[in-house]
Amino acid sequence: MTRILIVEDEPGIALALEDDLTLEGYGVEVIQDGLAAVKRAREERFDAILLDVMLPGKDGFEVCRELRRSGVRTPILMLTARAQEAEKVLGLEAGADDYVTKPFGVRELRARIAALLRRSQAGSAPAVVRIGDAEVDFARGEIRRGPETTPLTPLEFRLLQAFVRARGRILTREQLITEAWGPNTFVTDRVVDNHIGSLRKKLEPDVAEPRYLRNVRGLGYRFDV
Ligand code: CA
Repeated sequence: MTRILIVEDEPGIALALEDDLTLEGYGVEVIQDGLAAVKRAREERFDAILLDVMLPGKDGFEVCRELRRSGVRTPILMLTARAQEAEKVLGLEAGADDYVTKPFGVRELRARIAALLRRSQAGSAPAVVRIGDAEVDFARGEIRRGPETTPLTPLEFRLLQAFVRARGRILTREQLITEAWGPNTFVTDRVVDNHIGSLRKKLEPDVAEPRYLRNVRGLGYRFDV
């Protein structure tokens, strides 16, 4: 599950964000204080942080700077109060990845978060992964096997990235849908299975006996490599 840390001291905004993002399928945690936010973001891995500027304890810029200084590279979206150039610049200088200006619409925020996650996930998966006698080249979006090169479809690409990130762990079909199609998308299990079938054709030496993309009965799939 994609986990988002919301750092926001205004209860109304925090609650609205929490509700909306939970509905979108994200795992959400809310913290209201800058000091606690630094501690939490350092002790646990989140996929993204939404960070308000005016906070008790430590302001958002300080939180951001401190996290970056201590090596936390989680994407940070600043929630700035005013459309002031200075605040945007300060945020970006402090190491934030993007910002939205209050009051913001939920749709804009969702889009910003999705873009942030896409960018960071594209950056975190290794560019080339060897799977048996195949070589997956994420930078070029293709699978090489012997003299043969097969392009990956965008869905296969995202599925495979999710599998590589979660290697050795079971991914439910629901998690795969969130990763490859996006949170809150309605996709039947059968469609997921079809795409995994086509991935297997490109990857597995023997499609009848999959060695890498394993079906875990009643639970989902696991990528063993
Ligand atoms: Ca505030």
